[in-house]
Amino acid sequence: MPDPNGFLRHGRRLPARRPVPVRISDWREVYPPAGAELIREQATRCMDCGIPFCHSETAGCPLANRIPDWNDLVRTGNWDAAVETLHATNNFPEFTGRLCPAPCEAACVLGIAGGDPVTIKQVEVEIADAAVARGLPPRPASASSGRSVAVVGSGPAGLAAAQQLARAGHAVTVYERDDAIGGLLRYGIPDFKLEKRHIDARLAQLLAEGVVFRTGVNIGVDVTAEQLREQHDAVLLACGALQGRDTPTTPGRQLRGVHQAMAHLVAANRVVAAAGEDPPAPATLPDGTPIDAAGKHVVIIGGGDTAADCLGVAHRQGAVGVHQLDLYPRPSQARDEARDPWPTWPWILREYPAHEEGGERVFAVAVQEFVDDGTGAVRAVRVAEVTVEKRDGRRVVTPVPGTERELPADLVLLAVGFDGTEEQPLLAQFGLTRNARGAIDSRADWQTGADGVFVAGDMHRGASLIVWAIAEGRAAAAAIHTYLGGPGTLPAPVHPTSHPLAV
Ligand SMILES: Cc1cc2nc3c(=O)[nH]c(=O)nc-3n(C[C@H](O)[C@H](O)[C@H](O)COP(=O)(O)OP(=O)(O)OC[C@H]3O[C@@H](n4cnc5c(N)ncnc54)[C@H](O)[C@@H]3O)c2cc1C
Ligand code: SF4
Repeated sequence: MPDPNGFLRHGRRLPARRPVPVRISDWREVYPPAGAELIREQATRCMDCGIPFCHSETAGCPLANRIPDWNDLVRTGNWDAAVETLHATNNFPEFTGRLCPAPCEAACVLGIAGGDPVTIKQVEVEIADAAVARGLPPRPASASSGRSVAVVGSGPAGLAAAQQLARAGHAVTVYERDDAIGGLLRYGIPDFKLEKRHIDARLAQLLAEGVVFRTGVNIGVDVTAEQLREQHDAVLLACGALQGRDTPTTPGRQLRGVHQAMAHLVAANRVVAAAGEDPPAPATLPDGTPIDAAGKHVVIIGGGDTAADCLGVAHRQGAVGVHQLDLYPRPSQARDEARDPWPTWPWILREYPAHEEGGERVFAVAVQEFVDDGTGAVRAVRVAEVTVEKRDGRRVVTPVPGTERELPADLVLLAVGFDGTEEQPLLAQFGLTRNARGAIDSRADWQTGADGVFVAGDMHRGASLIVWAIAEGRAAAAAIHTYLGGPGTLPAPVHPTSHPLAV
């Protein structure tokens, strides 16, 4: 039984982040390991509350991670059992423990009335890292089912499904059009949030479990949907939601130096991946155009994960100044109980480690124009303060007269969200169309309109979170296993579409 008084003896504590001047001079992760003693202390704060909302798929963790159980196993020093319990619901806790926004913590009973929740995510990552340090034992299936599954896309949704299906005895091939496996974990999210060795350690386990990886294969172009269906008994589409939203009507959008955020992040990630090469790889777009913040005034448009990642990258590349623009007013730091009562996910100011590294956040502004330097390159961004309101279900943005000003800008990064999955040949080949949100619909059994073709992750729910991608990958794998005739059922979250964080 957990310690019912631990939270009275111990306050919430996280490991100190690496000092800013040190960490922006390299690409390594911001957080050092917490150490067993701190984690044991923090796990002790988990009380034996009657209903652990943190663990609930509908309010807390979309994976239904058995949080109180593994907290207590850590408290009692039972690390092997903690590793087992965590992996029972989550294929990749080393990713979620580092990157999840932790709706579980927002739903922790200790957080009621402004209290400090248990450091659930930190405990999770320490258990995951302990598992990797012990060596991740492969768990190959004892017998083959004789059935084969194609997984298209190697992000967390595709990888979670691949692991579940391979362990159930199916022959799984993961097709990825990039040159490396991992989806957004590999070339979207920077190393200071997730060092790529974590992906590689997990891939070694999947390989040993029999998963086949084929990189550099664009399904719909290099291999047609028909060919894929001939070669496999079922297909899972997990192609993400990589259609970047744009601002095509803003004057000056065509200027040199105005780019999609993902172009910048992918180029930067590729440089880090090639570290040690001589000469070092320059950061360039696929067409060879340089894209690097070194010595530049940078303006990032957007307020989410992608924008914060661009901010951290810009500082590490040596930007001379960075502004990050947000359309909405600065949220409050504390939960508004009337609007977002516990245990729902609150709308509060999200401070990422990148924000303590420098730059200026500007709220309640909208770009009116990207200003030309006379040679066709951007030299500034003209912004105005705005009010934002909902009218007839539509967002109406109104500039405040007399508030326009210019911010210097040699590099502008658009991090204004994603418009769903990309329009690409495989959709028509499978007879699928994007819905109003740009996503691909499924039935309750995760099957699309095409028989034997399933969908999961961002491609299904729109741009979302890693924890959701894993949850949907597990749920779709369970559905595919049933479609292929079993035997039995695979474990999966029960209601992965009913969470308050759902996009
Ligand atoms: C910059 C950035 C930072 C983020 N930070 C966080 C964070 O901190 N925490 C968090 O929880 N979430 C974060 N997210 C969101 C998270 O990364 C995604 O929700 C998650 O990766 C979705 O997983 P997925 O498997 O559905 O798709 P993806 O990870 O997008 O993977 C899809 C894969 O499919 C491949 N593919 C597409 N079409 C084809 C084809 N025709 N043939 C072969 N392969 C194909 C793509 O190349 C890609 O590799 C972030 C997203 C971005 C963009
Ligand atoms: S995956 Fe996210 S929500 Fe679930 S326990 Fe981990 S941090 Fe919490």
